Amino acid sequence: MPVASTKSSPSASPSASPSATAKGARKTVSPQARLAKLGLHTDMDLVLHLPMRYEDETQVISIEEACLHGGQTSQVEGVVVKNEIAFKPRRQLLVHIADETGDLQLRFMNFYGSQVKQLAEGTRVRARGELKHGFFGAEMVHPAYKVINEGAPLPTSLTPVYPAGEGLSQPILRRAIGDAMKRIDWTDTLPAQLRQRMQLSDFEPAVKLLHYPPQQVDEHALADRSHPAWTRMKFDELLAQQLSLKRAQRARRAKGAAALTVTGDLSARFEASLPFKLTRAQQRVLGEIRNDLRHPYPMQRLLQGDVGSGKTVVSALAAAQAIDSGFQAALMAPTEILADQHFRKIAAWMEPLGVKVAWLTGSLKKKDKLAAYALIESGEAQLVIGTHALIQDAVNFANLGLVIVDEQHRFGVGQRLTLRNKGQEGAIPHQLMMSATPIPRTLAMTYYADLEVSVIDELPPGRSPIVTRVIDQNRRDEVIERVHAAALEGRQIYWVCPLIEESEALQLQTATDTHALLAEALPDLNVGLVHGRMKPLEKQQVMDAFSANQMQVLVATTVIEVGVDVPNASLMVIEHAERFGLSQLHQLRGRVGRGSAASVCLLLYQSPLGGVARQRLMTMRETTDGFEIARRDLEIRGPGEFLGARQSGQAMLRFADLETDGWLVDQARDVAHDLLHANTPEKAATVEAHLARWLGGREEFLKV
Ligand code: ADP
Ligand code: MG
Repeated sequence: MPVASTKSSPSASPSASPSATAKGARKTVSPQARLAKLGLHTDMDLVLHLPMRYEDETQVISIEEACLHGGQTSQVEGVVVKNEIAFKPRRQLLVHIADETGDLQLRFMNFYGSQVKQLAEGTRVRARGELKHGFFGAEMVHPAYKVINEGAPLPTSLTPVYPAGEGLSQPILRRAIGDAMKRIDWTDTLPAQLRQRMQLSDFEPAVKLLHYPPQQVDEHALADRSHPAWTRMKFDELLAQQLSLKRAQRARRAKGAAALTVTGDLSARFEASLPFKLTRAQQRVLGEIRNDLRHPYPMQRLLQGDVGSGKTVVSALAAAQAIDSGFQAALMAPTEILADQHFRKIAAWMEPLGVKVAWLTGSLKKKDKLAAYALIESGEAQLVIGTHALIQDAVNFANLGLVIVDEQHRFGVGQRLTLRNKGQEGAIPHQLMMSATPIPRTLAMTYYADLEVSVIDELPPGRSPIVTRVIDQNRRDEVIERVHAAALEGRQIYWVCPLIEESEALQLQTATDTHALLAEALPDLNVGLVHGRMKPLEKQQVMDAFSANQMQVLVATTVIEVGVDVPNASLMVIEHAERFGLSQLHQLRGRVGRGSAASVCLLLYQSPLGGVARQRLMTMRETTDGFEIARRDLEIRGPGEFLGARQSGQAMLRFADLETDGWLVDQARDVAHDLLHANTPEKAATVEAHLARWLGGREEFLKV
């Protein structure tokens, strides 16, 4: 990259903030380097760096008129009549300008010496800013301004304001983008016929309009991005994403995997030995998975099912197919409690059938760890269950055929990839991911297009619905009474302590305090406590006691959020429910309603409730349907937060908004399908050109 040495620092231009150059060292950073920091490397990157808003500098009004519109942004023109540095009380530059109708003060708190000279008396300036009537009369504080000659023409288009980074002024960005626009090849990547059919604007005029909107443009449509020029950008972006995802899918299919064509009879014996019959939905998704596993290319499937829908048994049956075919399977869970629970449940199902199940977590003693490694490496362990410990370097599988990741949204992309890479040279294990957090359709299509999705849309029979109540925290005593009454009826209760994000120590304290308080209030009950800082063995003992119903009340932090399965627990109290996110509340609530007893979830809140918190709690009260909850969550939070930084990575769309542009996602997907499947040279060329323009060779949307 050329490192241009700039004589004048970029920030020396009049409208830039002088503070940006306050630290001398930064002066040596070239504009190119600063542009690169914004991801702007090529001319096309610059051209596709679109304005976030516009300023209207196409008109100048008289100072008198501007004064009438106090409080609004306007542009005036005048001659400097006075220029002084005052101390009121801070050092500041005061510049008085006048036209035929009146005068006005421009006030600068931060300024350069050069500006004092630049705005000498007699200079003509155009200033744009918010006009205020202050103590010293009409003034603009830190206006944008330009020194001009009399009669200088006004711009005829709106002035773009670009997303900028540190030390990058608007004038520099504008110039860089304007220059790039002169150099790029404007050829439309989409064939005319397609543009016509989809009623899409042409590329060049759309881009030019967005950078330099004419005065008479529909500013509203520009602002809310519904203008046809924006639609074209969004469509192009979504199309590039779909094309790249579909190509990733092809690439995956081109890779080899062991075809897990069952040869033993373990699967059949396993299914026959289960104490329950699979639901229709479980049978259906199992069929989909079994079918994938028989292919000689790696499965990449997400198994979605609401909390309690019975995903674990389906994954265990998938593991049985791998084992039956002579391969190992690995199941990774995000917490030790959950991994432990999986291990016990699955070992209880499979060991009687002669399957060797190994257990591996970080907290194992060195000796046990080494023993587990040996079992895994020799292939003696047919199924390995554990936490992140599974992805350590020291873990080598003999012949890993299937990788199962529970609560996949809890893992980063890199972690899932590491586990998948533990297969043998040249063959990638099949991958089954599980999640109770449903991904709304548009998100699934845009971020997980290279993922087959199976959905368990039915709960096992005999579950009764959970009733949810929202209760003011100051009625805690009544709630404690209710807990007591429930316990006397033989029910078990979870009491979830408030989330304190800022301080783990405080959260721990709260949990301990709550435990003490409840133990005192309920002397005839056995009240337990589980939290993240306990040793794994301690945690396990508490969970065991609760599972065995030796403990009626379990006070817990969010460590019980995922996966924990104690069917006899049928009352859940969540304190300070307003601090939790929707999906977290849904997951927590999913710990009850697992048996046949009618379950209740009490959401205690601290008033006054904010708007968003109220919306969340109302949603929880109104529905137990995970998909509906996810849909509303997306509505409340938007996709970026919904996916979480780990999931979304850099793949966030810049222009398209999944909530309002869902229809465009459908269209982009159809067009991508058509372009990739019709085997004509023209279409192949379109694909190449479009991807080159939008991704510039960086296929950053790839997901594993
Ligand atoms: P999740 O989908 O939330 O992971 P689990 O796999 O933990 O749910 O299943 C919840 C409970 O339902 C477990 O106790 C499990 O053994 C039980 N279960 C699973 N499938 C069935 C079924 N078809 N009939 C009855 N109980 C089932
Ligand atoms: Mg589960």
